[in-house]
Amino acid sequence: MLRVIFGLGSNLGDRAANVAEALRLLDECPGIKITRVSSLYESAPVDFLDQADFINAAAAAETELRPEDLLAVTQRIELEMGRVKTIDKGPRVIDIDILLYDIVEVRLPDLQVPHPRLRQRAFALVPLLEVAADAIFPTGEPVRWAIADIDLDSVRLYEGC
Ligand code: AMP
Repeated sequence: MLRVIFGLGSNLGDRAANVAEALRLLDECPGIKITRVSSLYESAPVDFLDQADFINAAAAAETELRPEDLLAVTQRIELEMGRVKTIDKGPRVIDIDILLYDIVEVRLPDLQVPHPRLRQRAFALVPLLEVAADAIFPTGEPVRWAIADIDLDSVRLYEGC
């Protein structure tokens, strides 16, 4: 059994409910068992700035699925939940990223794990470390070391409404 860490984000509709629904659908999937879920965090958008703030979370899961099968699952859930791509990096009902797949490096045309922008993104790193403080990159470097290089003020605990 391998440990996968998912990063989730939503900035459309009932953002917290969207994250909860995505987690439910992930856990319902054969071969994926969610074991830990982080607090909810709120963060300002990074790439396309003219959009609402995101709610972010991370979840650790045990899985028997291959990385490419996990990507198929996350993309199906994104579609099922009504994610429509209008603007690249724009508003979304749900975004599910595969942040880490155990200590395995994945380099496929449509899937790179660890997620290529994980090290720069406080909204992914902070919840990830809440559910997997012991995580290490495939290089052997502890993920928590990456915290030193990011702006922690860009992410805050979400207190609700
Ligand atoms: P996004 O706009 O963040 O949903 O980007 C989705 C695209 O990123 C998809 O076409 C995926 O194939 C690709 N991708 C590459 N690496 C990852 C990853 N680790 N997790 C999720 N999507 C990924």
